[in-house]
Amino acid sequence: MPIFDFECQECGHKFDLMISNADKDKAKCPKCGAKTIKQLVSFFNTSRVGGAPADSCSGCRAAGNGG
Ligand SMILES: [Zn+2]
Repeated sequence: MPIFDFECQECGHKFDLMISNADKDKAKCPKCGAKTIKQLVSFFNTSRVGGAPADSCSGCRAAGNGG
């Protein structure tokens, strides 16, 4: 089960919960019990380039044409 980072909007408490994706809306602050929490960006950062084609590698052509 994935771990999500949250920050409470009421008290500012930061915490992480190991919950499923569907249970995220049920999560609440363990400190003050508020449901107004914000999910923080996790370290699972999918650094994906916006729609760049895979064959645009200029270095590959120059190096790999020796035969
Ligand atoms: Zn709180």
